[in-house]
Amino acid sequence: MTVSLRTLVKNSLKSLNFSASGSTAFSAAQFDAAVMSTYGRFPIALMRGRGGYVWDDQGRRYLDFVAGIATCTLGHAHPAMVEAVTQQIQTLHHVSNLYYVPEQGALAHWLVEHSRCRPGVFCNSGAEANEGAIKLARKYAHTRRGIANPLIITAQASFHGRTLATITATGQPKYQKNFDPLMPGFAYVPYNDIAALETLVAELDAETPQVAAIMMEALQGEGGVCPGEATYFQKIRQLCDEKGILLILDEVQVGMGRTGTLWGYENLGIEPDIFTSAKGLGGGIPIGAMLCKATCDVFEPGDHASTFGGNPFACRVGLTVCETLEAENLLANVKLRGEQLRFGLQRLVQQHPTLLEQVRGWGLINGLVLQSEAQIKSVDIVKAAMDEGLLLVPAGPQVVRFVPPLTVSADEVQQALMAVEKALAMVIKRQSK
Ligand SMILES: *Cc1c(COP(=O)(O)O)cnc(C)c1O
Repeated sequence: MTVSLRTLVKNSLKSLNFSASGSTAFSAAQFDAAVMSTYGRFPIALMRGRGGYVWDDQGRRYLDFVAGIATCTLGHAHPAMVEAVTQQIQTLHHVSNLYYVPEQGALAHWLVEHSRCRPGVFCNSGAEANEGAIKLARKYAHTRRGIANPLIITAQASFHGRTLATITATGQPKYQKNFDPLMPGFAYVPYNDIAALETLVAELDAETPQVAAIMMEALQGEGGVCPGEATYFQKIRQLCDEKGILLILDEVQVGMGRTGTLWGYENLGIEPDIFTSAKGLGGGIPIGAMLCKATCDVFEPGDHASTFGGNPFACRVGLTVCETLEAENLLANVKLRGEQLRFGLQRLVQQHPTLLEQVRGWGLINGLVLQSEAQIKSVDIVKAAMDEGLLLVPAGPQVVRFVPPLTVSADEVQQALMAVEKALAMVIKRQSK
């Protein structure tokens, strides 16, 4: 590298008045004065990361089992990412989709080869990828099936993003409150309940077909780490095939190897008509993608666009993440480390039956579920774990989510389990006071 990354970071931090030694402490008050309070933030500022660890402004080290919320696939400062980022920024970082972008073509080819969908289109986030999927499904319904008012069915407790269409698709009222009028054209069913879905489709399609698509997560992430059932999804696939309904799978959180297979839907023995990817795809560099079966590709020039979508920089990094997944055989690591983690968490559930209900998840997306009668909330455990040097993230008030980098080691999983054990002991001690 011609530029020392360390110098770059040091200089930019100096101008922000940050210090790793803690001599000029980061001011949360200053931050809050300028940044909207759209997040309830934990009171630490992270400054640096390497592998599975991050460091705060006091120089304190944390084992990172959040990974930017299931995003930093290769952990922090992975050499392959550092090299890709550095080379690409020095070569060409952004042009426009008015021209051919070879890196975009290369990433699209990788995704096509590793799914049975073709072609794809790129954007910058999960919500945007889902917007694209919703637009594609609506246009397909209009142009191929003559549906005047297409409806998309999604699941309760789902999460599909924060734009107006995707908060509407998200089957959780707390994300929709005060943002109405919501987008027309959505209906909801309870997850993993095939009878409810079949009844709703029959009702909606009773007079003329209206149901354009069913949009689901293979495993609900934000909604509490709830795995989908294979029989449920296989019946959805059947229903879609019979009726000409498109099956959209939101792979934003569970895709890119997170579950031990490249795509979450592989755990269910089905294939989607359309699927979306984001979070883990760029390993922390913003990128999203939407892919579909050739038969669903009804987009024409002018139908969909994004200024940044698929630029050389993001695609080069995305391709590096994909190639590193293969080169380092990370899917095997995800399976092994996932089993190790679930086994250890299971033991904690047995030790604390009144506090903990169960462990659920696939690969390296796992949820530790609290008993509904328990007095504590997931965030209490997350805070206690932070005190023990472990970063975790809630998935709703009753589930603690574990989503480490896919490169996580056996030793790191062991450390995390020990930290959770200590955190639980601390929470229980506080509770009994
Ligand atoms: C995070 C997430 C999204 C939204 O992605 P953004 O990049 O935040 O827009 C959509 N769907 C699922 C399943 C997610 O987990």
